[in-house]
Amino acid sequence: MFIESFKVESPNVKYTETEIQSVYNYETTELVHENKNGTYQWVVKPKTVKYEFKTNTHVPKLGVMLVGWGGNNGSTLTGGVIANREGISWATKDKIQQANYFGSLTQASAIRVGSFQGEEIYAPFKSLLPMVNPEDVVFGGWDISNMNLADAMGRAKVFDIDLQKQLRPYMESMVPLPGIYDPDFIAANQGDRANNVIKGTKKEQVQQIIKDIKEFKESTKVDKVVVLWTANTERYSNIVVGLNDTMENLFASLDRNEAEISPSTLYAIACVLENVPFINGSPQNTFVPGLIDLAIKRNSLIGGDDFKSGQTKMKSVLVDFLVGAGIKPTSIVSYNHLGNNDGMNLSAPQTFRSKEISKSNVVDDMVNSNAILYEPGEHPDHVVVIKYVPYVGDSKRAMDEYTSEIFMGGKNTIVLHNTCEDSLLAAPIILDLVLLAELSTRIQFKSENEDKFHSFHPVATILSYLTKAPLVPPGTPVVNALSKQRAMLENIMRACVGLAPENNMILEYK
Ligand code: NAD
Repeated sequence: MFIESFKVESPNVKYTETEIQSVYNYETTELVHENKNGTYQWVVKPKTVKYEFKTNTHVPKLGVMLVGWGGNNGSTLTGGVIANREGISWATKDKIQQANYFGSLTQASAIRVGSFQGEEIYAPFKSLLPMVNPEDVVFGGWDISNMNLADAMGRAKVFDIDLQKQLRPYMESMVPLPGIYDPDFIAANQGDRANNVIKGTKKEQVQQIIKDIKEFKESTKVDKVVVLWTANTERYSNIVVGLNDTMENLFASLDRNEAEISPSTLYAIACVLENVPFINGSPQNTFVPGLIDLAIKRNSLIGGDDFKSGQTKMKSVLVDFLVGAGIKPTSIVSYNHLGNNDGMNLSAPQTFRSKEISKSNVVDDMVNSNAILYEPGEHPDHVVVIKYVPYVGDSKRAMDEYTSEIFMGGKNTIVLHNTCEDSLLAAPIILDLVLLAELSTRIQFKSENEDKFHSFHPVATILSYLTKAPLVPPGTPVVNALSKQRAMLENIMRACVGLAPENNMILEYK
């Protein structure tokens, strides 16, 4: 059975006019490596830490500014939300299609809240905590191409033509602000597109972005803004001591107009200075150490990197399943045929390299979790190939071959072939990222060992379900396995309303 909403009644939860306050007992373990009579042994001690959470229930009017607004993802997301808001339906060759949010964790997935008379009861994920309704979001942003969003939607060739016709009137007047363009960071083949660019030094460009955010906020009357990079993949920036390794050095480099500061880092600097959350949906290392330093010092949310939309999402499910089943993946080979502008940009070696790096570490935590299968330092062969095939357009082909060792030296090969519009996978993920980033800025918590409430660490690991190469604070483990990432997010949200983590034990029926 499915219920639309619920309220938790518990001595541990209080709903005030402005907040949900909860007390939560975090059950965890403490590990000790003890010397008992000359031999070392591991001892695991269960421990309970009391936490308090408070969630501000005032849902703000949210503005979302996309870097690369006129791209396939930007135009698809904007059109998709308008279609939902306006209740648009359109004729396809199969049927009359209604707008929906399929593929969005927050809008189209469910959580289990309990059992009632022998039946499992589910509710929408978004019913856990008050969240911004996507239809109330005001979109804006920048693009180095000055094409309006209606024409950009046509250029993207993602939506059916009947839908495009209905969306045009809403999108014609939406024109991206000029963007920061540096041909050194994206593929040379993007040069023809760049007719809408901010002039001046890097410092002046940062100041312009700050001005744009302020003006957008004023003109749209939104309470909060989130900025998300869905522009083209850049090459990696070189990390150089004295250039971008600390906040001070990054600022000094900005003053010197250093060539090695990428456009994405410039947007991120502007956002952190304005205390506006900045999320990076592409693989490049926007968050150079100096920028992470800046975000931590200013306590301004940053999250990334690279949307986890298709092939990598499957990988973080399949390898988790294989290793979890005691099967040993020994070779993982992934091919991509991509025919959209993203694919053209990635056909240059330096931008492809960014994608290759972001796709490559995704199985590490799962492999490292099982020393019965893998020797220390042993790793499956893992190869990623991306080829630009213009004819397939946005309809990406992702082909994967997983070879594993099974019982008694046997070999097992699984082949996957996935075809679908890349932007229809990415758009709902962008929506989740901005809605969850906004929500996370309304949550404060403290453990029993802390005096004061504080927000989450500015490096937002809470968003890791949605990103291929989750950015984590220095010294924090990276979790790639998809089910763990989802459970982390859901369970933290449950804690905010005083609900225990979903443990799947269903002891009531055992
Ligand atoms: P796209 O090429 O259609 O759109 C990118 C837009 O960014 C273009 O309109 C371009 O003009 C603009 N742009 C480039 N540099 C800019 C800058 N410095 N400032 C402002 N605008 C700039 O690409 P897309 O298909 O929308 O993908 C966007 C990004 O998302 C790519 O980097 C891609 O790798 C990443 N990504 C996409 C998916 C997916 O679609 N499934 C998954 C993971 C990551």
